[in-house]
Amino acid sequence: MKLNFATNNNHKLKEVQEVLGDSFQIESLHELGIHEDIPENQQTLEGNALQKARFLYQRTGESCFADDTGLEVEALNGAPGVYSARYAGESKNSLDNMALLLKNMEGKQNRKARFRTVIALILDGKEYLFEGIVNGVITEQPRGTAGFGYDPLFVPDGYATTFAEMDSESKNAISHRGLAVEKLAAFLLKR
Ligand code: IMP
Repeated sequence: MKLNFATNNNHKLKEVQEVLGDSFQIESLHELGIHEDIPENQQTLEGNALQKARFLYQRTGESCFADDTGLEVEALNGAPGVYSARYAGESKNSLDNMALLLKNMEGKQNRKARFRTVIALILDGKEYLFEGIVNGVITEQPRGTAGFGYDPLFVPDGYATTFAEMDSESKNAISHRGLAVEKLAAFLLKR
């Protein structure tokens, strides 16, 4: 099955394609020839995922999905949350975002956090939402070079390594996005 994915993030594409497997052929925005920035200005992950999926659906008329992810830190009242990409500014720089997060976490004993992904699917004109959550803690220093975003600062519960110290297969098996994509795949395969 061919399915359009409203992203140009190669890390996400790889992760999602690995979880969905060969039964699904994922086309990115780039492959679809859509080169503009999709608006993403809602107050919730659900709102942003739907906004991106609707944009793509209107463009192509083909079934598609979009995801939005936030890192929700307990001691920061859920921040950076829906603002995770631009936490330290519009340049959306991961190193700056991590530096700001570590600064805001200075002196905090409670380092609990979770990644939450929402996937919005539009299939034959109908909308569906899927959620994936992974709980963990924020480290004191970045560790590891794999993955992207806040991966070097996040240790999932039950593990000693950050997401950035895992290979993508291990991360996918437990990650927020991996879990949300598994729900998406189970739904699609049942139909
Ligand atoms: P997006 O809107 O889904 O692209 O996610 C917002 C931001 O959350 C990204 O710019 C990353 O900084 C961060 N993020 C999303 N997914 C991950 C992940 O799997 N690991 C680490 N950071 C992530």
